[in-house]
Amino acid sequence: MRDPNDTILLLSLRCNNNCRMCAIGDESIKDISTSDAKKLILDFKKRGLDTVCFTGGECTLRKDLEELVGYAKAQDLKAYIDSNGRNYSSSNFSEKLLKAGATDLSITFLGVGKVHNYMARRPHAYAEVIKGV
Ligand code: SF4
Repeated sequence: MRDPNDTILLLSLRCNNNCRMCAIGDESIKDISTSDAKKLILDFKKRGLDTVCFTGGECTLRKDLEELVGYAKAQDLKAYIDSNGRNYSSSNFSEKLLKAGATDLSITFLGVGKVHNYMARRPHAYAEVIKGV
């Protein structure tokens, strides 16, 4: 369960899934810049919050995610990664995030096997999530 001090930082509306129940749908908005994301993280710290939850869309599509997690850690903030889990199947990806300071990596399961793939509209999504786990 999330703490009331958690703050959600939506890094991107982009996603590598196309879930049937997604609330984002076809929305297309430019990603927040690295420098603006850092300004918000600093603002969270100044407001006395203790956690930032990186989310999206799919926040692991961001090339600067490791950098932003490290920045949150440098501000002494706990960093959660809220993900559909597919990119954790890439070698060392989750390890890099943990080394950068991520305190929690959450993964969404939409069902088991074909049900997950059906819901995500991606034929290999479940296998990738399991590999990442
Ligand atoms: S993983 Fe999340 S953001 Fe991506 S399509 Fe599914 S519900 Fe939407």
